[in-house]
Amino acid sequence: MKNLITGGAGFIGSNLTEKLLSKDEEVICLDNLSTGSFKNIEKWTNKKNFKFLNSDVTSISKEGFNFKVDRIWHLACPGSPKKYQKDPLKTTKTILLGLLNLLDYAYQNESEFLLASSSEIYGDPNIHPQKENYFGNVNPTGKRSCYEEGKRISESICTDFNSLYKIPTKIARIFNAYGPRMLRSDGRVISNFIYQGLEKKPLTIYGDGSQTRSFCFIDDLVSGLIKLMNTNYSKPINIGSNEEISIRSLSRKIHDKLCLNESIKNMPLPQDEPKRRKPDISLAKEILDWYPKIDLDTGLDLTIRNFKNT
Ligand code: UDP
Repeated sequence: MKNLITGGAGFIGSNLTEKLLSKDEEVICLDNLSTGSFKNIEKWTNKKNFKFLNSDVTSISKEGFNFKVDRIWHLACPGSPKKYQKDPLKTTKTILLGLLNLLDYAYQNESEFLLASSSEIYGDPNIHPQKENYFGNVNPTGKRSCYEEGKRISESICTDFNSLYKIPTKIARIFNAYGPRMLRSDGRVISNFIYQGLEKKPLTIYGDGSQTRSFCFIDDLVSGLIKLMNTNYSKPINIGSNEEISIRSLSRKIHDKLCLNESIKNMPLPQDEPKRRKPDISLAKEILDWYPKIDLDTGLDLTIRNFKNT
């Protein structure tokens, strides 16, 4: 199999690359290194079945794509609120123009196409847990809307390409992934807390910490994405963990794991924060025979070990 992974130098993309290379598949990694890191892919650059293209999905020319691929994994876009809010118009352009470019390419090449969508399409949900048939609660002009609305229109565009041009599209709604290869500067809560703890700094809790998330270890996510790519299922599907935890409890867990006395710095809660987030994953179990195997405790231990060694 020949794979094109956009955002292949990022956190999810590089972990997916590693898995596909371990199965002797070919990987072309396309990344502009804006939030991805060359360090994540450096060790494969001498491999015959790996190629890196330093390019931006918004400006790829058709001539630049003089190769055929079987599968496109479209992951390119900053995923951390801190990063995608920094330049919201750039985020919207990356999501929209990047998707149109890649779908066009998938059409010409008759490639399978997987879109990395997100739990963000549910916004600040008023239904809990979130099932795929819930339409969400999104503020279209809020701080998160560049990403939330971007991923919503992406799902709509993929669905239209699927029905109009018969492109085999798949849509993964990814919920809070974490694990090795998250960067120190990422800004998401687990990498922030672990690095702050390792540096003996107080853990930054936004708001009172009662908001919840359900964190999925990267290896589980990657196996879910691969299972999804292997199906013909074109409707959106939640890929995440249903082990829900408050941010306050998460901070206690990380303090304990790092053997630290509790030290917290309270910071304001950002606008339009989802208060609770947890996927209903019964569809993934039914369609993909997939469910997360690595619980939060084990995943945090593996992540801490990795961060200590990098
Ligand atoms: N958060 C926090 N401290 C941090 C980073 C994040 O308390 O240093 C909170 C954030 O307000 C949110 C949750 O942790 O409620 C998850 O945030 P993250 O940025 O990881 O992802 P999100 O789920 O919001 O996209």
